[in-house]
Amino acid sequence: MNESLASRLPVPGIIDDLIGIVGESGVILGDDVAARYPGYFMDRIEASAIVRPRSTEEVSRILAQCNAVGQPVVVQGGMSGWVRATQTRAGEIALSLERMNTIEQIDPVNRTATVQAGVVLATLQDAVAEHGLAFALDLGGRGSCQLGGNAATNAGGLRVIRYGMMREQVLGLEAVLPDGQVVSSLNRMIKNNTGYDLKQLFIGSEGTLGVITKLVLRLRELPADNSTALVSAESVEQLAGLLRHVDKALGGRLSAFELIDSDFYEVNTGDGRHRPPLAHGSAFYALIEAEGTDAAVFENALGDALARELCDDAVIASSVRERDAIWAIREDLEHIVRDFQPFLAFDVSLPVGDMADYMTEVRARLLGRWPHARIAFLGHMGDGNLHVAIGAGPGAPHAEVEACVYEPLRRVQGSVSAEHGIGLEKKPWLAISRSAIERDMMVRIKRLLDPRMILNPGKIFDLTDQREA
Ligand code: ZN
Repeated sequence: MNESLASRLPVPGIIDDLIGIVGESGVILGDDVAARYPGYFMDRIEASAIVRPRSTEEVSRILAQCNAVGQPVVVQGGMSGWVRATQTRAGEIALSLERMNTIEQIDPVNRTATVQAGVVLATLQDAVAEHGLAFALDLGGRGSCQLGGNAATNAGGLRVIRYGMMREQVLGLEAVLPDGQVVSSLNRMIKNNTGYDLKQLFIGSEGTLGVITKLVLRLRELPADNSTALVSAESVEQLAGLLRHVDKALGGRLSAFELIDSDFYEVNTGDGRHRPPLAHGSAFYALIEAEGTDAAVFENALGDALARELCDDAVIASSVRERDAIWAIREDLEHIVRDFQPFLAFDVSLPVGDMADYMTEVRARLLGRWPHARIAFLGHMGDGNLHVAIGAGPGAPHAEVEACVYEPLRRVQGSVSAEHGIGLEKKPWLAISRSAIERDMMVRIKRLLDPRMILNPGKIFDLTDQREA
C-alpha cells in the first residue's frame, strides 16, 4: 500500500497545489468539511479537504497532480447514496462536482441533453419538460442527487420497468482518467456499434475508474397523461399475475409496479400520517402507474384484474393531488426510519417467482434471532427488486442482520445489490453475486486504469487476490 494511503494526512503540499488550480474559494478545509453535511446519516466524512473544480480541465489538472504524488481522491456527487461509496478517511481529498452544474444543451430534434456531471436530476427533469420532453430516470433523491453520480452508480429508481436504469439513458460521456487524461466519448446516437462500449466501463464503477465530467443523455417524449392506482392483494403470487396482466393490457405503457407490504403500509398510514386510500388488513399493496395511456384503458385493465381476482381492491387517482398522495405512501421514508430505529435498509434483486419464499425466509431468520425485530418489504416488483427495511433493535450486530437478508439469495442466484451499488457497505457480500473470475476481472481493470490506486480506494472490492475470497 502507498504510504500516503495509510497516513492520516494528505500528501504534503497537495492542498497548496489544489488551491493553485481552483483558487481559495474552490477548496474547503478543516471543520468546514464535515459542517457541509449536517445530519447526514451514513457516510463518514473525514476528508482533509473538498476540492470543487469548475471545468473538465480543472478536474484533469487535479487528478494529474494527485496521481503524480499518490494522493487518494474520492469523488462526490449529491451524497444521497446508500452504500457509503463516497465515504472519506482522514488524509483523503474529496472531489465535488457541485460547481459543474450547467445544462449545456437541450436538443429537441435529436432528443438529447448534454449536461455537466453536477447537474441535479430534478433540475434536468424540469428543464426538459419545458421542451415537451422527459428524462426517464426518476428516484426519491431527485432533488439532491447529481447526474454524474446517477451514472457513476448506475442508478435505478421508479421507472426502470419501462425505461431501464441510468445505463440505458446515457448515450455518451466524458470522463477524466486518474492520470488526468480526458476520455471524450460524447456520442449522441442511439446506435453506435464501433468496438468496445467504453462509456459502460465508467457507468456503475462508483468512482473507481475515472471521474465522469459530462454526459449526453437520451430524452423521451413527455407523456400526455399519467394514470396511477393503488391495489391490495393477499399474496405475491397474486401480484405476479397482476403484473403480467396489466403489462399486457396497457400495451407496454406500464411505467411503475411498486410493491408495498402491510408492515410498510401501516407505518406510513398510521394515525396522523398519510391517509390510507385502501383499508388496512391486506397482506400486500401495489402502486401501479401507466404513462401516456388513456384513462379508460387503465380503468378497464384494473376492472378486469378485479374480476379475475388478480387483486382484491383498487383505487385510481382522480387528480394530481391524489396521485401525489399515493406516491407519498410509497416514497416517504421518514416514519419508518424513526419507528424502526436503529433503521437498516437493504436493496436486493431476485426473480419475481422466488419473492414470496424469499420474504418468508428472511422474516423467519430475523425473528428467529430477534423475536421483537421489525421488518417491512417494499420495492420495484416489476424489476425483481426488493427493498427490505429492518429494525432489529439496539445492539443487533449489523453483519448478522445482513446475513439474514443476503444468505437466502445464494439459493436463487439473486443479487446483493439491485440498484444501490457496493461501496463499502456491501463489499463483504460481493462474492454472493459475482464469481471469482468476475471479481478478478474487476481488479485487473482497476489496476489497468488506475495503477497508482488513487481513485476511491477500497470501494467495491479490496485489491487482494479475489480468487482467495
Ligand atoms: Zn429503489
